[in-house]
Amino acid sequence: MKLRKTAALAVAVLALTATACGGKEGSAGDKPGGVQPGATNAPQLPQYIVASNVKLDSPAFKAAKERGKLIIGSKADQPYLGFEDQATKKRSGFDIEIAKMIAADLGFTESQIEWKTVDSSTRETAISKGQVDYYVGTYTINDKRKAQVGFAGPYYMAGAALLVRKDEATITGPQTLKGKKVCSITGSTPLQEIKKPQYGAQTTELAKYSDCVQQVLTKQVDALTTDDSILKGYAAANPAKLKVVGDPFTKEPYGVGMNKDDKVLREAINKSLETHIKDGTYKKIYDATLGLSGSPFVQPPAIVRY
Ligand code: GLU
Repeated sequence: MKLRKTAALAVAVLALTATACGGKEGSAGDKPGGVQPGATNAPQLPQYIVASNVKLDSPAFKAAKERGKLIIGSKADQPYLGFEDQATKKRSGFDIEIAKMIAADLGFTESQIEWKTVDSSTRETAISKGQVDYYVGTYTINDKRKAQVGFAGPYYMAGAALLVRKDEATITGPQTLKGKKVCSITGSTPLQEIKKPQYGAQTTELAKYSDCVQQVLTKQVDALTTDDSILKGYAAANPAKLKVVGDPFTKEPYGVGMNKDDKVLREAINKSLETHIKDGTYKKIYDATLGLSGSPFVQPPAIVRY
């Protein structure tokens, strides 16, 4: 019995060490650099007031109330946006804070949140199968996705750009990609864009952003394309080796994803976003997270109810 316990513990420790050292999520290279979200010299994050007596005729909300936990889907390898520190397991970034702000309005404290990492290619499945109550992770609202999931928002407008090595001189924008190797992510909108014959790029498709960043660093590819907001985070985390080039060449309005038929939850989240964009909480969140990676603050687009 004692032996079995020890063996189990050894396996657990090994598993932990493996994630900490070479984990699939944020590796050392992705760690936010410079001023980090939550650091004492960073702008302070706002406090969210947890609402009481919230009643909503929403299936996801009711299920969350019953289990006493809200399950939120997010990214884990996007510094300043949706990042999980592999040592502390703490999540940080703009999307994480937006998700916490909404949770508070729904009556859930931070300790009642269960985070679930969901990458771009599995978002629609995770949401429609009810594996998450809602999803906040650089998720572009578009009609194709609207056929499968619901969207609150938009709460931010990003656009595709390019991440290259600091010494790269020939790639300056999307029109300079002919014959170049460009990495992007399965299930993401910038991958669809870059595959268009007009760019003449050779595309590499991977599941995780951090893997594409590694391929840029190790010269297996020449560039990574995705939203400027994401790329600026990687460049800020590794300014000696990486830079962002090209004016945004697509429009990526970010939405909060939820079950397609859960209109009550969708409206509750729209209200939360609208209220806190107005009362300044949103700007405070921005300044303490995404703003630190060098993206200037722009007023978010108006909420679209459909
Ligand atoms: N915003 C784009 C998308 O939703 C790219 C970022 C991502 O993969 O999350 O596809």
